[in-house]
Amino acid sequence: MKKLIYLDCAAATPLDRRVRAAMQPYFAEQFYNPSANYLPAQAVKNGLEQARASVAYWLGAKPAEIIFTAGATEANNLAIRGVMEQFPEGNVVVSAVEHESVLAPARRWRCREVPVSPDGTLDTSVLQGAIDDNTVLVSVMYANNEIGTVQPLRKIAETIKQKRTARSSKLPLYFHTDAAQAANYLDLHATRLGVDLMSVNGGKIYGPKQSGALYARAGVELWPLILGGGQESGLRSGTENVTGCVGLAAALDIAQGSRHGETARLKSLQDYFFKELRRQMPTSEINGSLKRRLPNNVHVTFPGTDNERLIMQLDEAGIMAAAGSACSASREEPSHVLAAIGLGEAEAESSVRFTMGRAITKNHIDQTIAALKSFMAKKKKNNFA
Ligand code: PLP
Repeated sequence: MKKLIYLDCAAATPLDRRVRAAMQPYFAEQFYNPSANYLPAQAVKNGLEQARASVAYWLGAKPAEIIFTAGATEANNLAIRGVMEQFPEGNVVVSAVEHESVLAPARRWRCREVPVSPDGTLDTSVLQGAIDDNTVLVSVMYANNEIGTVQPLRKIAETIKQKRTARSSKLPLYFHTDAAQAANYLDLHATRLGVDLMSVNGGKIYGPKQSGALYARAGVELWPLILGGGQESGLRSGTENVTGCVGLAAALDIAQGSRHGETARLKSLQDYFFKELRRQMPTSEINGSLKRRLPNNVHVTFPGTDNERLIMQLDEAGIMAAAGSACSASREEPSHVLAAIGLGEAEAESSVRFTMGRAITKNHIDQTIAALKSFMAKKKKNNFA
């Protein structure tokens, strides 16, 4: 059987076997409702609270500041809707390259979308101008899911802090970051980063899908998204998905514990990928920042190429990559992220995202470049896009 090369880790990652082992008991013998009063249920409750403490550790938080959710979409909705429902007279400021799970809820309120530079970075002086006396929330993602650009969160936090102290408003001004793509590679310590709210998920870090958490600094006032039995400090009712929470915690432990080594390994593969693209396919153009970038992301425009056709050809060769982010690829409209960094429709439609993961080696990159070159040769011979 043909060996598959998976280069779409920004869309999903496989479940780590250690994570699966940690989750296993909670599928079967540890099935009790953690809110029940008998002793066996206490063990389940302990498992849940250990998972919370472990997630809190990596986020530099107290366990009470962690609200488990079903993924980053829900965490983003809880952060944005949670703050905006509380202060409906306020406005929210977001970057133009946010994930749809930030943009869509933010647009339900008064919302300003701040443009980014051509490499996808938010300029803090532009951000400063967008924040006014009624701004209650700024949401800027940690790392972009399409082009991999990492935002200068500490600098942004500093800008927000200055605004907060300089203005004469009774309203709070919170800083939220969507860290869904960051947890494999970057520091998540909320106080070091200067964020009040942060979303993480398990599905991108070799944990289970539909697992996630929102960090909400003590004192941040949130309106609950899901009302009912009052679980998760009343912010997210419903019997807890203990299996998912334990899986998220185990996945985060592994990801954060190995992030320095994995970053160095992938950075060298990324450099090699870029170098070989420049050498062997000199008309290709790399999108996003070369300096502030996730180490697993390679986003390239192949001018004059139909990316859907290219993805299909790669698929036939056993190579999986993306023509957009998995969330917007099914839509007809071009990516808002690529538009925000100044790519025209034609350029966007000839762009491909490769996102590497733990299983990727140099040999896989050589095979991918060879497949790309073979596609280009065929294209030239048959004169198609
Ligand atoms: N935010 C970013 C940056 C993402 O890349 C994704 C998923 O692609 C999400 C949020 C949504 O995460 P989930 O699928 O866990 O809801």
